Amino acid sequence: MTTNAYPHLLAPLDLGFTTLKNRLIMGSMHTGLEEIDPRMQAEFFARRARGGCALAITGGIAVTARGALAPGVSSMITEQDAERHRVITEAVHREGGKIAMQALHAGRQSYHPNCVSASDMKAGSYPFKPHRLTDEEIEEEIGGFVNAAALAQYAGYDGVEIMGSEGYLINQFLAPRTNDRTDRWGGPIENRIRFPVEIVRRVRAKVGPNFIIVYRLSMLDLVEGGGTWDEIAILAQALEQAGVTILNTGIGWHEAKIPTIATMVPRAAFAEFTGRVKQLVKVPVCASNRINVPEVGEGIIAAGHADLVSMARPWLADPDFAVKAAAGQRKEINVCIACNQACLDHTFQLRRASCLVNPFACYETELVSTPAAVKKKIAVVGAGPAGLAFSVNAAERGHDVTLFDAESRIGGQFNIAKTIPGKEEFQETLDYFAAMLEKTGVNLKLNTRVSVDSLKAGGFDDIVLATGIQPRHADIPGADGPKVMSYLDVLRDRKPVGRRVAIVGAGGIGVDTAEFLTHDASHKPSSLDKEVFFREWGIDRTNSVRGGIEGVPAQVDPSPRTVYLLQRRNKKIAGPGKTTGWIHREALLKKGVQMLQGVEYRRIDATGLHIAVEGREQVLEVDTIVICAGQEPNRELLEGLQAAGLSTHVIGGADEAKELDAKRAIRQGTELALKL
Ligand code: FAD
Ligand code: NAP
Ligand code: SF4
Repeated sequence: MTTNAYPHLLAPLDLGFTTLKNRLIMGSMHTGLEEIDPRMQAEFFARRARGGCALAITGGIAVTARGALAPGVSSMITEQDAERHRVITEAVHREGGKIAMQALHAGRQSYHPNCVSASDMKAGSYPFKPHRLTDEEIEEEIGGFVNAAALAQYAGYDGVEIMGSEGYLINQFLAPRTNDRTDRWGGPIENRIRFPVEIVRRVRAKVGPNFIIVYRLSMLDLVEGGGTWDEIAILAQALEQAGVTILNTGIGWHEAKIPTIATMVPRAAFAEFTGRVKQLVKVPVCASNRINVPEVGEGIIAAGHADLVSMARPWLADPDFAVKAAAGQRKEINVCIACNQACLDHTFQLRRASCLVNPFACYETELVSTPAAVKKKIAVVGAGPAGLAFSVNAAERGHDVTLFDAESRIGGQFNIAKTIPGKEEFQETLDYFAAMLEKTGVNLKLNTRVSVDSLKAGGFDDIVLATGIQPRHADIPGADGPKVMSYLDVLRDRKPVGRRVAIVGAGGIGVDTAEFLTHDASHKPSSLDKEVFFREWGIDRTNSVRGGIEGVPAQVDPSPRTVYLLQRRNKKIAGPGKTTGWIHREALLKKGVQMLQGVEYRRIDATGLHIAVEGREQVLEVDTIVICAGQEPNRELLEGLQAAGLSTHVIGGADEAKELDAKRAIRQGTELALKL
């Protein structure tokens, strides 16, 4: 018998006309499946319903042509649009779940020239200046929301979520930042809230009382000229009056220069803002952002901050989240580490989303694990992400898998990654793999450096080399001197580093090494401490100033070292992630890191590192030079194994070190395991 460790999280929620089976919502995510095939979307959502998700919310669906994020995105405007969605709602209902369609109007945050807004002010990084809506056109756009909600109901959805946050059109009406109107839609707050309140009121009138209306309320805009707490409180109460069923949480506009969901944001950092709204209304409220494990969700509800929790990416990482939580299998939950690498980064590159820790996500109909036709005896060398993913998936299919690693623990380079401030979450992936190795019966042999001879003697049918990488040496005269270290010396072996440091190479590891060296080991990093996070990013916890940030200085703990971060390419230095690179850059600049691009390395000597930038020679008088110049594959066993005629496969960094990351390593390991 299992005891319910999450009594609040797993309790049903009675909405009056319908009941949610627990408090777990899957928040809206644009996965890219919307524009491919509704059957793939159907399987994606059905899989999560099977895994216990009480209410899933689709990616944003355009309510009018003018409101589309980009040309060709999914919309709900005609009856034919609604017909295409039926396969999705039916699939979810067959699995006992519920699903709501997110009704989205992007306003000025869109990539087409016909975009519109409350005013004609262009959004920073978006290409087009919006057309300022006339009174008549505003009525049309409200009508678009009403029509989309009615069509969603016709398509079998259990409800809609009206997207009122993240800086989209509704936010653009609410905030003085984007609304300079003087008519009945602008000026005092009573006028600025008219647009969302009218949408909810008219949608409710159209769909009747037995249809879920979720409203995504921006609790904290994080932009100058954004809303204040008083305004948010007025809006929350007006929305309740207008007929919402659930108030969901949005944090930060897309234009905000403060991280809101990336891995360096503390878990549940923003739940307290939802908690304040909960005090004002009777309808259930839902917390969101950086809630990724059941104990955090349980804590939020138990503390009275919310009635529900919305998680989006964690449902990519593990479609069985709720079922596993209910069965007491917490260790088997594949936890979202908030890296954004396979989800949001893909979306912003117009690629289909997936998940770094779960490559099956959004590939439910293509990546399918079936029992192996022939049971094989397989040796896997290397228990980094590639070897772990292969081993678990191969053993699950029935193969007899032995996994070797020279180290005393599984994880490979992930053990180094998790020591970087802001990457503590990476331990979750290692805990998950540890649990799954045990569950699937992988024979784990740690502290075992294997050789060609030992593998030959093992009588294996197949050998999988997942031996990772070797750090690349920098070809700089004097690089063998006493001031020079590799990133492994610093991050893994914790050798003492001087007060003035130059980092050669500004790829992912160079940036992470700078992050590590600019933190004092005696301070809790902001990723683990809300107090520090809010202070370092200049957020007013009372949300009494506009956007929660206006006039609030960011106060960062000083770096214990002077750090130079260098690269040869003449290109702005940032972290490798499409949606997170800017955060690393901002954080390092706040710590005073000096970033130099277009660097030519001359030599290293007792004075320091001699370089030239744009032809100008200079010496960085540093105590330590840390080499983060990329990596080369470690394939030392390959030739011997091939010479011995053993069936050998190479994955992860051992296969290709260039642009290697854990996303590729885990996917490659998984794909091979499904084939062998
Ligand atoms: P590795 O992780 O290198 O594992 C190889 C394993 O093989 C090791 O455990 C090693 O001990 C073992 N081995 C080698 N030879 C033998 C032998 N002969 N016998 C037995 N065992 C052997 N990636 C991301 O996607 N996102 C990030 O944010 C990120 N951050 C990082 C931060 C840092 C500081 C570092 C160092 C890496 C980071 N990475 C990140 C990269 C990521 O960790 C690697 O891409 C990934 O670990 C590669 O996986 P792998 O399995 O191919 O190899
Ligand atoms: P990397 O991203 O390839 O970066 C290597 C850096 O070294 C570059 O700045 C490169 O730029 C420089 N360099 C290359 N050869 C050099 C040489 N011979 N001498 C001097 N400088 C040289 O590799 P990495 O930083 O080692 O990271 C390894 C992998 O882990 C990468 O694929 C990375 O994406 C992944 N990773 C990801 C994350 C993440 O957050 N997503 C974090 C860490 C690591 P110049 O040639 O312009 O100088
Ligand atoms: Fe979470 Fe990273 Fe997977 Fe996205 S790719 S769902 S952030 S673990």
